[in-house]
Amino acid sequence: MNGTGKVYLVGAGPGDPKLITLKGLESLQQADVVVYDRLANPALLEHAPAAAERIYCGKLPDNHTLQQERINELLAEKALEGNVVVRLKGGDPCVFGRVGEEAEHLAERGIPFEIVPGVTAGIAAPAYAGIPVTHREHGSSFAVVTGHLREDKPELATEKWRALATGIDTVAFYMGVANLPLIRTQLIKHGRDPQTPVAIISWGTLPQQVTLTGTLADIEERLAGHREITNPAIILVGNVVQLRDKINWFETARAETNEHLIG
Ligand code: SAH
Repeated sequence: MNGTGKVYLVGAGPGDPKLITLKGLESLQQADVVVYDRLANPALLEHAPAAAERIYCGKLPDNHTLQQERINELLAEKALEGNVVVRLKGGDPCVFGRVGEEAEHLAERGIPFEIVPGVTAGIAAPAYAGIPVTHREHGSSFAVVTGHLREDKPELATEKWRALATGIDTVAFYMGVANLPLIRTQLIKHGRDPQTPVAIISWGTLPQQVTLTGTLADIEERLAGHREITNPAIILVGNVVQLRDKINWFETARAETNEHLIG
């Protein structure tokens, strides 16, 4: 193979393997090397040629930075060898996906790359739970927030909490389950109505999707009784959550199928 290859930074979608874009799929079909994450559905690897090299790089929380540097270098190295490299990331690569760091690393080295957006969990998991993140009557603004909160900038945090509590209708917290007590306390403290509906959607868009609903006031207590709600999960706060009562299509269809199978 001659010259430098190319890197595709691809969003794999939130879980359901059909929620990848056509562009993402086509890049996988051409791949010589696929570098994939813990949250990219491994079923997608079937689209890569049998001979493609498959490299798993699930992130270990303890040596995050080191791990990321190694991934950056790996992508560059494989592309410089002339390969078509697909970096497959869960959801959208630009939403808490560190694509910025990878793209910067490649750009600095003059390695060609493309970013292929994906369907992000903060929108897709609610959609599969019967909750549109905006609605003409129940929500006209939407924010995507990391629940992996940094305690080192308290002032900034206060301003942000105030904005999230009073300025945004629907808030999706990623990586937030462990911090649920902090999230609900801060939102209430900064002015959000404790009766605001909340949904926690775990393993969204996958057959094992589970959704727990409640209010800011009682969601923590409710979660305690539901061990099946684990990471990955989205915490969605806002009045749009009430729409689930009417449009919970995915879990309803699944329950009907199961009944049919049992019956
Ligand atoms: N780039 C991804 C997010 C990566 S951060 C995206 O755009 O979706 C990882 C977090 O995403 C998880 O902690 C969880 O909050 C969320 N997440 C990813 N997949 C999910 C799924 N299938 N269901 C619910 N949450 C999910």
